[in-house]
Amino acid sequence: MKCPNCQSSQLGRIGSKQYYCWNCCLELSVEEDKININQIEEDGSLSSLNDLFYQEG
Ligand SMILES: [Zn+2]
Repeated sequence: MKCPNCQSSQLGRIGSKQYYCWNCCLELSVEEDKININQIEEDGSLSSLNDLFYQEG
């Protein structure tokens, strides 16, 4: 598995289906066959970046 953003394979596991990219500091959560990409904000909340990677239609 590689980071969809930077193609790095330096992913740390932070949960059963959650990974953290050490290279670009994004949180990746695997949902079935889709990877959700989240940015970790300074206050610890997550904001989805899926729109940047997956375009509907
Ligand atoms: Zn990355």
